[in-house]
Amino acid sequence: MVAEASPQRQAELAPYTDPDTGKVNLLGLSAERMEAFFAVLGEKRFRAQQVLKWIHHLGAEQIDDMTNISKKLRANLNEIAEIRAPEIVMQKDSSDGTRKFIMSVTSGSQIETVFIPDGDRGTLCVSSQVGCSLDCSFCSTGKQGFQRDLKVSEIIGQVWLAAKSYDSLMPGADRRVTNVVMMGMGEPLLNFDNVVDAMNLMRNDYGYGISKRRVTLSTSGVVPALAKLSSVTDVSLAISLHAPNDELRNELVPINRKYPIELLLATCRQYMDDLPDTHRVTTVEYTLIKGVNDSTAQAQELAILLKDFPCKINLIPFNPFSLSSYEKPGQNTIKRFQTTLMQAGFITTVRTTRGDDIDAACGQLVGQVADKTRRSARYQQKQVDESVVRIIK
Ligand code: SAH
Ligand code: SF4
Repeated sequence: MVAEASPQRQAELAPYTDPDTGKVNLLGLSAERMEAFFAVLGEKRFRAQQVLKWIHHLGAEQIDDMTNISKKLRANLNEIAEIRAPEIVMQKDSSDGTRKFIMSVTSGSQIETVFIPDGDRGTLCVSSQVGCSLDCSFCSTGKQGFQRDLKVSEIIGQVWLAAKSYDSLMPGADRRVTNVVMMGMGEPLLNFDNVVDAMNLMRNDYGYGISKRRVTLSTSGVVPALAKLSSVTDVSLAISLHAPNDELRNELVPINRKYPIELLLATCRQYMDDLPDTHRVTTVEYTLIKGVNDSTAQAQELAILLKDFPCKINLIPFNPFSLSSYEKPGQNTIKRFQTTLMQAGFITTVRTTRGDDIDAACGQLVGQVADKTRRSARYQQKQVDESVVRIIK
């Protein structure tokens, strides 16, 4: 019995064991780690593949669901392992088809995940941290401060739960997660190892089999982490630029003081050059804020800045939230900004706001339900219920 595992076996299992639960969470093991874990148990590689398929293709919630695994091995696994996902606290559908989830990830912390269907495409916006330490001036997640990094199981668990909510893990289902953007709460490059493991599971055929162009990491510019990204993944890249010069970007995106624009653009270019395939471009995200970064002169300055940088530009009209005095520009201003960039030769899209009626729009992630203080479980539940009511209203 594994319950009586030798100290040596326990030491071998330690790297796979979640210290919070004392168990191995199979949901959070990348393909490589799953193989290594089964090697510790003296099992062959195909066991790892079977378990990955049970969890990610078929949505298995219990080890005992895995009927092509021997009873003896299942009993052993039940002693040392489990499948543990975040808990969905709220699920809300918008009239435009957008589905928003608020998920609880231990000790009252909550994260948000949003599914955005668009024709054949289903994009899932995934969180990487609870809160964020980078404090961009226009971001409601930043206003919550940083609580903690998400575990691999909590990042991939968002994909697993969203897919299961549509009963759509099977190929051919109507609503499928075809694209993932790491644009929920948090700065993915500050939770590097866990985000990379989770993205590799999204990409892996025994995981979700999503192509490299359909998984996008968005960063505000953590340059040292970006510099090592191409050695571990080949996903698409988006950078949160938001300003055409360092003076303004220092104000909006404080990490710019450490890693200014020129260095950020050079590091992105290096990432793209390191990838074996050609024609990959960076998406430049630019949140348009009324009277701050939305003038025609600033659009022209942006066009000059990005003249030789292979990119497409995504303009995101600012989403207001209660702690911010910034405003969204009018339609004409947005159109003028877009036209200026397009005339300069840039592919420029304006992100349409989705899920307006359920506060699922970008930048409104969880702010209202953040509960950073430690309270009794009962009080926490009351807070969640009240917050959910506020969001649904
Ligand atoms: N930390 C990463 C990813 C999460 S933020 C990053 O900064 O890139 C995802 C995107 O939403 C970023 O481009 C961010 O700038 C944008 N965003 C944040 N708050 C917003 C708001 N209130 N309105 C519009 N876009 C916002
Ligand atoms: Fe963090 Fe991104 Fe928000 Fe900046 S925009 S505070 S990096 S989540």
